[in-house]
Amino acid sequence: MRILAIETSCDETSAAIVKDGKSIVSNVIASQVEIHARYGGIVPEVASRQHMLTIVPVVESVFKESSLSFAEIDAIAVTKGPGLAGSLLVGVNFAKALAIANKLPLVGVNHLEGHIYANWLQKDQPELPCLCLIVSGGHSDLILMEQHGSFRKLGCTRDDAAGEAFDKGARILGLPYPGGPAIQAATKGVSTPLSLPRAWLKNTDDFSFSGVKTALLHMVEEKISPDETWIKQAAAAFQNAIVDVLVAKTIQAATRLGVKQILLAGGVASNNDLRDRFIADSPLPVMIPAPILCTDNAAMVASCAYYRLISGNADDSKLDVIPGLAFGV
Ligand code: ZN
Repeated sequence: MRILAIETSCDETSAAIVKDGKSIVSNVIASQVEIHARYGGIVPEVASRQHMLTIVPVVESVFKESSLSFAEIDAIAVTKGPGLAGSLLVGVNFAKALAIANKLPLVGVNHLEGHIYANWLQKDQPELPCLCLIVSGGHSDLILMEQHGSFRKLGCTRDDAAGEAFDKGARILGLPYPGGPAIQAATKGVSTPLSLPRAWLKNTDDFSFSGVKTALLHMVEEKISPDETWIKQAAAAFQNAIVDVLVAKTIQAATRLGVKQILLAGGVASNNDLRDRFIADSPLPVMIPAPILCTDNAAMVASCAYYRLISGNADDSKLDVIPGLAFGV
């Protein structure tokens, strides 16, 4: 079964064709990151306008790359939420029009569920039950996945998401947006990082990153004329504080629950330090999608839609965007 998927929940316009939920035929991503970088963050109105400009060329590109035609597509999938309302609307309306015009089934996908399914696009397929850590600009969630379509939220961030913390930390250190890649680049070659506190929130599976951000701000304010070496050491301290908590609390929960694997998902899962630390520290197998599949992409939406479709969960033309769509019970 070949699914054409569309993803426009935030600032990437993406389309993909995926076969049987696991083989990527074509995956095209048009990033808006350079447009939003000048504002230091995503501007929703600019994002939706940009999606409108790029959606047609991006969908045309997946067909060009795959040499397939609409006659060889079996279903249309699209992200219905959570995300920016104006951005989601572009994708959902476009997908609905394609489904109606080509008389194909339509599947609306939860963006966070999609991130988890990026793990099904790898050579080795995940084993269930597994514990999923979704870390992105908007989320830091621990999700127990017992079977396809069954997601239980064990914990989440009580304040800033990990990606949001990286953006704010980078701004404090005078590093560019997006903060995660900028902080990762700044930490290169640092052997003696400074020290920052961690919020462990013992006896819960929740996270908190606003305290470490405030501690970083105080450290910067107290430092008289910080040089480049000091900024790098501070960036390493900040990254360590976030990675330590994410890795230790996820492994702790996975061990307690007796799951078979840990799955990482979301944009922050492309952070090298986080990836290396999980592999080094976890007694359980850890699956991490390729970095390009950690950030927003339509291939993950197609994979998720495949499992929804084979379990009889198709939508119809009444499908609407749900910007605040929840995930996990
Ligand atoms: Zn995302």
